[in-house]
Amino acid sequence: MKLMVEIDGQTVELRDAVWVAYRPCGCACSVMDADWGDGEVFATEDQARREWYPLKKDRDRSIKQGYRLELVTFRHYRQHIDILASCDVCKPKVAAA
Ligand SMILES: [Zn+2]
Repeated sequence: MKLMVEIDGQTVELRDAVWVAYRPCGCACSVMDADWGDGEVFATEDQARREWYPLKKDRDRSIKQGYRLELVTFRHYRQHIDILASCDVCKPKVAAA
């Protein structure tokens, strides 16, 4: 069975898409396949958020804090998204020497 999704007006197979999680500041921080190839799929934001945050209280908090999830094509992810990037707001704080 092929599951298709539309991303930015483009229809792609779900297995060619990934979920990207963004911090409140807008930096991407995590990525997850939308189709794990074993029958488990995450086609909606709600399904993806449940996988990231199994507990409802954590889901609610993530939404309240402004953590965003976005479904993008794998190609877009490879070309444009760096989950290791961090801005001044979220970069790891190092103790001043
Ligand atoms: Zn940031």
